[in-house]
Amino acid sequence: MIVIGLDGATWTVIKPALGKLPAFKALLERFHHTTLTCDIRPIHSGPSWATIFSGQAPSEHGIMHFVMGQEAREELLRKKIFVWDRVGRAIVMGVPISLPPINVNYRMDEWEKHVLSVREDEMFQSTKMLIRDVIGAIEYGDADLVVAVFSEPDRAQHMFWREPETLMKHYQSIDRALAAILPHLEGKDFLILSDHGFTDADETRKNKWDTVRDNQTGGHHPEGIAISNIPPPECTSKVCGFIETTLRNKRGDGK
Ligand SMILES: [Zn+2]
Repeated sequence: MIVIGLDGATWTVIKPALGKLPAFKALLERFHHTTLTCDIRPIHSGPSWATIFSGQAPSEHGIMHFVMGQEAREELLRKKIFVWDRVGRAIVMGVPISLPPINVNYRMDEWEKHVLSVREDEMFQSTKMLIRDVIGAIEYGDADLVVAVFSEPDRAQHMFWREPETLMKHYQSIDRALAAILPHLEGKDFLILSDHGFTDADETRKNKWDTVRDNQTGGHHPEGIAISNIPPPECTSKVCGFIETTLRNKRGDGK
């Protein structure tokens, strides 16, 4: 199974712009999709991805922000709470539950550039690098589960929410990633999802969904996205169960 995370991706940007996003358009025409509601608080990537990949509520996994510091990170990994700890072989790339992000059977050099940088050229670059590595993992990784999270949409939306033309360039970068990956999903089970949606920073603050820094124009929103060859789950707390059921019912090839 292939799980592609698009951090912070939202239908409110994608659906009105399908003319400029051909891969999203093709995915919506061919597969199932839904609004994936982030049903945990705070609405933040660390706890949301942790719930998505463990099935545990924040009160159980204890993650309220990114897990920082080497010791805390190692302790989290030792607990083996994530779905990739329960499959034969997994490749996991850049899941921002901790900083540095979680990687399994994968090395991400210069992770800050690929996960945190707010420079536009580095956002584009990080997506390009991950496209190459995701395709390599699918084709040559011999893995039961491939997980990769693209952080470009989250970073771009925090910076450029009030600049729709600039923002669209980053969605088009993600669309190119999906276009490249799409042929490699044929005949396989897959889930493309975001950990939360996005909105204007003022709305995030007003609803106390998450903290937003002064220099950020966009903030997190509970309504994210999901696309799959199987009808996808509708809230983040149900994603892990969905992945495990799909892995158990693996379709084999070609169907
Ligand atoms: Zn964010």
